[in-house]
Amino acid sequence: MEIPNDDDFMLAGEEDLLEQLFKEVQRPEFEWKTVAAIALFHKQTCSQCTDEHKFFMGWFTAQEHRTDKFSRRLVKGMPPDANIQHRVEVHDQGIVPLCATCVLIDQAIGGII
Ligand SMILES: [Zn+2]
Repeated sequence: MEIPNDDDFMLAGEEDLLEQLFKEVQRPEFEWKTVAAIALFHKQTCSQCTDEHKFFMGWFTAQEHRTDKFSRRLVKGMPPDANIQHRVEVHDQGIVPLCATCVLIDQAIGGII
């Protein structure tokens, strides 16, 4: 006796419909919802002079996953919708060995760091 597989339970046209639905839910605009335009800054603290420095990394589009409320991503570039909320985010990169100022000072005095 032959064991039936899933294909044996499909009605005519159902397979095409399932394939169409599968492609539909895989579209990026279906899975991710654009929620804001983000001006992203990275913050670093220099280990030599202990100054904090902020760098503008550019505009990003914040997106939240439609079914997983804990998933979020930033996509490079502004969102196409100009009326969307604009926010500033600062991502702390922690302590770095040298900042740009300390590198210049170090080079000026002969590179002792
Ligand atoms: Zn420094």
